[in-house]
Amino acid sequence: MTPAIRPLIAGNWKMHGTSASLGELEAIGEGFAAAAGDGADGLICVPATLISRASGVLGSTPVSVGGQDCHAAESGAHTGDIAAEMLADCGASHVIVGHSERRTDHRESDADVAAKAQAAWRAGVVAIICLGETRRQREAGETLAVLSRQVAGSVPAEATAENAVIAYEPVWAIGTGLTPTTKDVAEAHAHLRAELEKKIGEEAKRTRLLYGGSVKPANARELLSILNVDGALIGGASLKAADFLGISEATR
Ligand code: PGA
Repeated sequence: MTPAIRPLIAGNWKMHGTSASLGELEAIGEGFAAAAGDGADGLICVPATLISRASGVLGSTPVSVGGQDCHAAESGAHTGDIAAEMLADCGASHVIVGHSERRTDHRESDADVAAKAQAAWRAGVVAIICLGETRRQREAGETLAVLSRQVAGSVPAEATAENAVIAYEPVWAIGTGLTPTTKDVAEAHAHLRAELEKKIGEEAKRTRLLYGGSVKPANARELLSILNVDGALIGGASLKAADFLGISEATR
């Protein structure tokens, strides 16, 4: 973690969860303060269909609710899409943009991701901007160059420590049980901080940089102890309250 930056433990439920999952969410909300103390923020990004009910369940807890994507437009003829204003209207305070699954499945470019971040800000929603290299790029020694390109293209110049969170998620570490070495995470995050500073100046020093990709209770303490890792974006292990709370404990 970085001294003076309050960590964020964020869950990404992806395309998982129905009303039957609200009990798990309730357990996350109830247990978060006990697990993390008052020195960290909690967030669960649920499917859009659950945002309203999740807001009801988590409303009186220290855990916020987020969405997983938004359209760049405020409204219009975009069947099946959801505007950031709609997420906010349901109670979402954050939205993930540019997750690698969307960059791949929906061919989202860095420019698309930047436009979505701006759409989030228009609606008063914090954008969690995701980036990270593929396995092929890492093997080719291109990781830092890819991160530079993604920061330049996906992070709008209006980003601040309040309206943006950056999530480094190596594509090959997502859902695979694989994680980069501590040294590699430290190098990537230091590089991200420096690239972000080129783009947004001093704000970069206070902006949260999350690590994501196979975070679980067993590796959370090691990952969160790395300088410039200011929290985690958690997929699979955020679906079970015990795992999410186990990871949250590592911020203490
Ligand atoms: P994972 O997913 O924790 O299941 O690897 C992380 C993510 O995609 O945000």
